[in-house]
Amino acid sequence: MNTYFINRPNLDRLARSLSKTYKVYVPVKSGEDRYYKKIGDEGLDDAVIGEIRPVQSIKSFFFPARTKVSDYFSEQIPEKKPRPVAIIGAKSCDLASLKVMDYVYMQDSFKDPFYIARRKEGLIISSDCTTYGESCFCVALGIMPYPTEDFDINLSEVGTGYVVEIGSDKGEKIIRDCSKLFQSADLYTEKKDEARKKLKKELEEHVKKSNIPSKDSIQARFRKKFDSELWDETVKTCVECGACNMICPACHCFILKDQKADKGFQRLRLWDSCLLMSFARVAGNANPRKLLAQRLRNRFDKKFNFFPDVIGKFGCTGCGRCTEACPGKIDIREVLSKL
Ligand code: SF4
Ligand code: SF4
Repeated sequence: MNTYFINRPNLDRLARSLSKTYKVYVPVKSGEDRYYKKIGDEGLDDAVIGEIRPVQSIKSFFFPARTKVSDYFSEQIPEKKPRPVAIIGAKSCDLASLKVMDYVYMQDSFKDPFYIARRKEGLIISSDCTTYGESCFCVALGIMPYPTEDFDINLSEVGTGYVVEIGSDKGEKIIRDCSKLFQSADLYTEKKDEARKKLKKELEEHVKKSNIPSKDSIQARFRKKFDSELWDETVKTCVECGACNMICPACHCFILKDQKADKGFQRLRLWDSCLLMSFARVAGNANPRKLLAQRLRNRFDKKFNFFPDVIGKFGCTGCGRCTEACPGKIDIREVLSKL
């Protein structure tokens, strides 16, 4: 894989140049957290390229919380094409979630034109984590705290700039078109490798404290615990808010809603939550998962049993967001440790 080096002023120039074609988003800091913000005249002045994943995941760029899918119940797809999005600073855990999202929305029989258009036209410039958050546990699931695939370009912070790796033809073209901004990475690759190794080790030490079972045993352990007390115990503090689903980069369920518009009606696709009573309810009020404990178990079933079967990967990337968002203080690491 070809590698280069880009210093921070030149990365700023690259971002400004990309903003002529793309809506460019970067993580910025707010208190202790990071959020994606669209860059304007300030360029990358307040951008945080390293550190850890922002509060919101990148799924909202490809699968927004609310999408108009049709007017007047027409089969026509709304014409308006949004400007493509470039995300700078996406983290490894969020890239891993794209495997789940792509399976759900791009596979042969169920192609979603909205998702596919956004994915194909979008640009992902990912970056290595330079630290870890208290709730992070990606390494327990075999995901590194630095991107290894599914990016167009990756940035690894070293000193006053970044080692740049190309991950796709799209990324290669961008680097070719702006070649003056890049220089040889020879002086920096060793530092990059050392930084990665050090962070991985520190994160592994941190994750050890949670007693999460080895990744290869999680699915079998889940199956054994399917009919256990674990779910009744865990669900005691759940208030059925759905925050765990909304914040999760790999949760992808939606509901279609028809509503009155200025002229006639429109159909919307909205994020849905499998923790909510209404999620699986069908006509006649029948509900295969009436109990909250069944719905909580279903969430784990999908992530740690169903997805390993269908794509050979977990439907969880260890980002820790659900642990931070849960008002009931349900920590996914604790649930996994009890398996
Ligand atoms: S289940 Fe929780 S830790 Fe896993 S990817 Fe979703 S939000 Fe992150
Ligand atoms: S975030 Fe916590 S309280 Fe809310 S639905 Fe999920 S598990 Fe329940």
